[in-house]
Amino acid sequence: MNTAQQLKTALLNINHKSYPAYKSVAGNYRFEEYVLGIDHVQGDPFASPSKVHLALEGKVAGFPGHLFDTTPKRIALQDYLTRRLGRELHKVSGKAGGSGKSGLIFLSQCGQEILERSCCEINPENGDLIIRLEIGFPANGRSINSPELIKILFDFLPVCVSRSLLCRRLPMEELLAVEALCEDQQFIRQELKRLSLSAFVANGAVLPRMSGISQLPLKHAVAFECPHSMEVTLTLPHRGSITGMGIPNGITLIVGGGFHGKSTLLNALEMGVYNHIAGDGREYVITDESAFKLRAEDSRYISNTDISLFIRNLPGKKDTVSFSTQDASGSTSQAANVVEGMESGARLFLIDEDTSATNFMIRDQLMQSVIADKEEPITPFISRVQALYEESGISSVIVAGSSGAYFHVADTVIQMKDYIPYDITEKAKTVARDFPALHTEGLTYELPTFQRCPLASGNLRDNDRTKMKVLGKDSIQINRTTVDLRYLEQLSDTEQLSGLAYLLTYGAKHYLRKGRTLTEIVDLLERQMEQKGLASLTDAPYLASNLARPRRQEIFACFNRCRDLVF
Ligand code: ADP
Ligand code: MG
Repeated sequence: MNTAQQLKTALLNINHKSYPAYKSVAGNYRFEEYVLGIDHVQGDPFASPSKVHLALEGKVAGFPGHLFDTTPKRIALQDYLTRRLGRELHKVSGKAGGSGKSGLIFLSQCGQEILERSCCEINPENGDLIIRLEIGFPANGRSINSPELIKILFDFLPVCVSRSLLCRRLPMEELLAVEALCEDQQFIRQELKRLSLSAFVANGAVLPRMSGISQLPLKHAVAFECPHSMEVTLTLPHRGSITGMGIPNGITLIVGGGFHGKSTLLNALEMGVYNHIAGDGREYVITDESAFKLRAEDSRYISNTDISLFIRNLPGKKDTVSFSTQDASGSTSQAANVVEGMESGARLFLIDEDTSATNFMIRDQLMQSVIADKEEPITPFISRVQALYEESGISSVIVAGSSGAYFHVADTVIQMKDYIPYDITEKAKTVARDFPALHTEGLTYELPTFQRCPLASGNLRDNDRTKMKVLGKDSIQINRTTVDLRYLEQLSDTEQLSGLAYLLTYGAKHYLRKGRTLTEIVDLLERQMEQKGLASLTDAPYLASNLARPRRQEIFACFNRCRDLVF
């Protein structure tokens, strides 16, 4: 292995040379506390910055094993270190200068959710630590300014590392607090299963966010307060006793006037599949981690999905046992979303009336009398929601502001009033008795078939030179194919979309086979991420510096929306 001194000499030798001479310093170098890897050097100072990694041995980093002895705790520690290192790097980014991106230092930025990311990986066996980051190698015009890079690599980085990645230099009480919060959150997740709950929302939680463009907690928000009848008290291993609302498995309806906080509660449940950082306000809002938001998604792609549970006898005898379209309607898209959610193993569906197709959700008595059942291809969700729970064990939480139809089928009815929930189940049931329920006789519940096997076509098949691009949280592009992901509202970070782009490309290249189902493919991809980490999704693992792990549900959803996969 080269020494740091050799790197310094090499860098001084190429000072003032033309930019590509930087390529000669690619390689690994031994620094005092870590090995610095220069993995890819940018082509010019305006191009994407160079890829660099730091490798620290476990005994140097020195984190005690109990801080990362479970996967969630390891992810929480990685998240903490990323945030801490990010703050240190931020102080020195741009301090060394030049043209274009010279001197800028980039590390993944974490939001409110605690996600597994490729920028910081701890080896669970020995505590070895890998950090992946990007540095704009400095130049003046196109001529190398290596003393500035020396400043970054020899002055700035060692200080940042020692202030954020060496256990002995970190405040132990903060590390222990991260561990404790994670253990408490995981404890609640376990308790949900034991107590047959779909979600838990602690008293005092702050659900609303600052604005449509900020996920920070809203200041001066009305704190969450559980209705008496739904109170659940848990004894967390660290925090001790905590009381909040337990949403039981089954069918839960959230009703209430406009602007009283219904969607805010549902959104908090959507994001409760992830653990949140301390101070977020939703630290103790925990939802079954398989929960899947369902919504209408006009114009999405559907390939050979069995939506006959909801839609049959379409005009023109279009097949719905194996339904395909390049341009779905509101109701067919939502039907496909349900079926694909089932295929992904979701145990809880989250639905907001505002973003649903009305004809998919309900069908009122009057309409049923005028248009005979046999002339209506749609069996609305309301006619299936009970069987979904009783036959398939899938619960639903539904926000309904304008239709009372679901009162008949709900097990629990919550009214949001001035942001506070009230249990109005009794009242709603009593009143509903005087209104006719939708009759659904003669309906049989047949599980859709999940034997769908995707094969790649077009752009995805020829992937020797794959170009990937992520457009915010809206979509990913693989070569010339765009996969629209904007309606997957539980994606919390653009890096998860990068992760999906890699999963799709890697999956298409290595795991697609004739006769292999989507479920088997996703199982293989998840197992690989578990065993070898996110960065293993590429042949050049040190280059994958900015991936976050998406959930199983979003991996399914991404594959299902890719127009270059035919099932
Ligand atoms: P609904 O879906 O019932 O129409 P929303 O959930 O969209 O209502 O909430 C309406 C507004 O109230 C939003 O701007 C939201 O940020 C705000 N809000 C929601 N919950 C709270 C709360 N607990 N405290 C303060 N403001 C809140
Ligand atoms: Mg709303």
